[in-house]
Amino acid sequence: MKEFDYSSWSLDTILVHSSKLTTVTNKSGKPAVDPISMSTTYLHDNAEVLDQAFSGISPSGETTYVYARQGNPNAQMLEKVLATIERGSGAIVFSSGMAAIHAAFLASGLAPASKILAAQDLYGPTIGMLRTIFVPMGVEVVFHDLCSPDVNEIIKEEQPDVIYVETVSNPLTKVIDLDEISACAKEVGAVSIVDSTFTTPYLVKPIEHGFDIVIHSATKYLGGHGDSTAGVVISARNNITEQLRGYATLLGAMLSPFDSFLITRGLKTLALRMERQCNNALEIAHFLQTHKAVERVHYPGLSSHPQHELASRLLLNHRYGGLLAFELKKQNREAAFRFMDKLRLCLPATTLGDVYSEVSYPPISSHRNLTQSERQKFGITDGCIRLSVGIEDVNDILSDLDQALQS
Ligand SMILES: *Cc1c(COP(=O)(O)O)cnc(C)c1O
Repeated sequence: MKEFDYSSWSLDTILVHSSKLTTVTNKSGKPAVDPISMSTTYLHDNAEVLDQAFSGISPSGETTYVYARQGNPNAQMLEKVLATIERGSGAIVFSSGMAAIHAAFLASGLAPASKILAAQDLYGPTIGMLRTIFVPMGVEVVFHDLCSPDVNEIIKEEQPDVIYVETVSNPLTKVIDLDEISACAKEVGAVSIVDSTFTTPYLVKPIEHGFDIVIHSATKYLGGHGDSTAGVVISARNNITEQLRGYATLLGAMLSPFDSFLITRGLKTLALRMERQCNNALEIAHFLQTHKAVERVHYPGLSSHPQHELASRLLLNHRYGGLLAFELKKQNREAAFRFMDKLRLCLPATTLGDVYSEVSYPPISSHRNLTQSERQKFGITDGCIRLSVGIEDVNDILSDLDQALQS
């Protein structure tokens, strides 16, 4: 079947009509929603055709499947949608965000004596992976504050082979200057990788800002319903995509057909969800800013945020994301626990990006493995609460936060 080109449509339209990309044909009618192909193997007419099918493409240019770990229709359709909306040359889906990050590091060409320059406030398990897996392999890893105005000098001084950042930091929502970092990376010949989980292509498309590789934990906003663990790597260049495909197959970290289906389904409402989550988050940030039990609010949409101007320049749709953090006036664990236990609507949950609002307390979750003084160094106090804003009616979220803060 001829491949459908929908790249001229806007993000919202592409997402809703992603099933047009299906390669499934059926003489008794083409399904409007792709079926889930759970088969682990694919049969072909004869040994000659099977031999050809191993190459992944038939003589007439159609995609061929042989064994599900090497590729299956559900994963492949999701990969096409993600590559298109991120403006990449290709995408590979993985069984988790961590598996995606691991493959991205491998595909960036890391070898013993390579150097990774990473942002100091990365997602905790990413730091864990660098220290536990890559450092023992002989890779040098250096951490810096890459939101610093001296980022240019830092990169020139360090001369890294790979630069690794996150678009918006957890939990303090610091925003990274993607244009400046990708330009410096090119100057020193480093591969640039960004984890864009918090922003999604609704808010920023890092490849358009010069990045080589974009990662998402699709478990979060892309899936959006808290029912599937998945990751994706989108690459600006074909050769990196080919390498990633090889790693996904060899490491066995492919996304299953069922999870590919769930993420594809979640994506259809990504734009609607993000719109509501960002609008709710801005309103909540304003509310918390004037609340007597709250010391400080971290949200890029507030003019008081140190990178508000950068965020306004970088982020699309005049919106600033669905995540915010705030500090209770009482900067201690007891007050934070009391607040969390009083909540009735917002869920105390160690995840983010779902349709429902979720709070987490970084000292016991994402930043649990740091000492109190290390957390202090990053500006994460004992009164810090992270809120992932859901799609509920904002007034219900505000009342819930208010009654819990009153205590
Ligand atoms: C959750 C998360 C990850 C890891 O993703 P998993 O799907 O849990 O493996 C990586 N980066 C960020 C920013 C995350 O929030």
